[in-house]
This record gives sequence, C-alpha cells and structure tokens, in this order.
Amino acid sequence: MALFTDRVAIVTGGSRGIGRAICLALAKEGATVVTCARNAERLSTLSAEAADMKCPGKITPRALDVTDSSKIEQWVDAVASDFGRLDILVNNAGITRDGLVMNMSDEQFDEVISTNLRSVFLLTRAASKHMVRARWGRIVNITSITGVMGNAGQANYAASKAGVIGLTKSVGKELARRGVTCNAVAPGFINTDMTSVLSEKVKESVRPLIPVQRFGEPDEVAAAVAFLASPAAAYINGQVLAVDGGLHM
Ligand code: NAP
Repeated sequence: MALFTDRVAIVTGGSRGIGRAICLALAKEGATVVTCARNAERLSTLSAEAADMKCPGKITPRALDVTDSSKIEQWVDAVASDFGRLDILVNNAGITRDGLVMNMSDEQFDEVISTNLRSVFLLTRAASKHMVRARWGRIVNITSITGVMGNAGQANYAASKAGVIGLTKSVGKELARRGVTCNAVAPGFINTDMTSVLSEKVKESVRPLIPVQRFGEPDEVAAAVAFLASPAAAYINGQVLAVDGGLHM
C-alpha cells in the first residue's frame, strides 16, 4: 500500500518549484493533496500532471493568498470538510524581497514576514484543530538554511525563516502529546524560479561552497518532506533537516 493512502494533505505554494514537487511526491504515495497559490492558472495543470504520472493520489488546486488572514481558517475548514479529514500540512509558500538592510522599506520587510512566517502561524493554527481532534497529524514547514546562517541582502527573509524554526520547535512541543509532530526542512540553493534570478557570477561563487558542488533539485527537497510526513518519522519532532548538499554543517 502507498504511504499516504487515505491521507489528506495541504501544501501551500504548489504551482511551481519545491511546492509543486512536494504535491507530486505526496500524490505518488497516494495522498489527496489540496494546494494553493495566488495565481490559479499556474496551478491548473497540476491535477492533470498527477493523473498523467498515474499517481494513486490526486491533486486539487484551490486559490488562496496565504497572507489573507480573513480567509485562511475558512479555507482550511472547507478542505477538512470537503475531503473528510486533514492529516498533513506543508507550509511551503514563500517569497524574497531582497535588499540591504539600510535601504529596506517597511513594505519589503512586512511582505516577507507576512508570506513566509505569519502564514505558517495562521495555517498551523487552523489545521492543528483538525489534527488534534484526530490525534494524528504531520506539519512540515519549509524554512531555509538562510534562517540558520543569515545572508547579506536578506535580513527580512532570514528573519522570517529563523522565525519559522522557532515556531516549528514550539508547535512540536505543544502538539506532540496529541499525536501531531512538527518539523522543518531547510533547503540550501535549489533550482527554482526563486534562484533563477541569481546571476551566473553569483551562482559560480556559491557552487564551490557546497560540498556536493551543485544546486539541488525540487524533488530532492520533496523527498525529505515526504519522509517527515510519513509514518516512519513518528519519533522525529521539532527538527530542522537541512537539504543543502552540506552547505551548512
Ligand atoms: P518559487 O519557485 O518562487 O515558488 C513559490 C511558490 O509559493 C509559488 O507556488 C507561489 O505561487 C507561492 N506563493 C508565493 N506567495 C504566495 C502567497 N501569498 N499565497 C499563496 N502562495 C504563494 O519558490 P521555491 O524556490 O519553490 O520556494 C519554495 C519554498 O522553499 C519557499 O518557502 C522558499 O523560501 C523555500 N526555499 C527555497 C530555496 C531555493 O533555493 N529555491 C532555498 C531555501 C528555501 P504564486 O506566485 O502564484 O502565489
């Protein structure tokens, strides 16, 4: 039997990059996946892609802006009610608005905190009610190695991702006794739209710092997420798993 047969999962930011790979990895293992992004058009091909790959699970796109606090609880409750349960939450949606701290606007800072950190709180609060009731749940948050190491030009992003790590550990302490674990995955440099904006010069300067000597692929992050969401990871809680080719150790 597939790992996630009969499990219902929410994955935020599934329209491309790491989120898309996570949706497909969970559906390949039988999960019913509901995913969101702001741009519903980009999401629309995912269901067909899962079907083409003969995934035993299925992917349902539902538009949601994760910064819209007025909608999140209702959106999560509707998923749980329409699909009969909610077992897995992957908080993946994220953005960058880079700039040196001296020049960073309030908006640049707030937008990143709202998308990358506040949304994780809002979705976790809404989803955990359903998981605690069922006495089973897996929450996996996508942080970043930047949240551990810091990065010049990314004070907002690093603060948001460090916040996600603190939130992950606290939620892990609160909910584990009720059967819900909470862990984080911290990717290094992964080939997605987010890193495609980096110049070749920057990429060339970063590669030698990565012991594996290359950027990672979205599938390699998705595999770690699927493991942490699986029954095999029942005794792993409050951890941050780096998927970074050894960049930070
Ligand atoms: P990406 O290719 O830019 O994709 C980001 C996804 O998030 C898209 O589906 C986007 O869809 C969605 N999203 C952004 N803002 C949203 C909002 N307000 N509401 C709903 N969905 C939203 O990024 P990625 O590289 O796959 O990154 C995924 C996660 O991994 C992020 O949390 C990122 O910080 C983290 N990460 C990435 C790397 C890397 O090297 N790529 C490294 C470390 C950590 P729409 O634009 O349509 O809303």
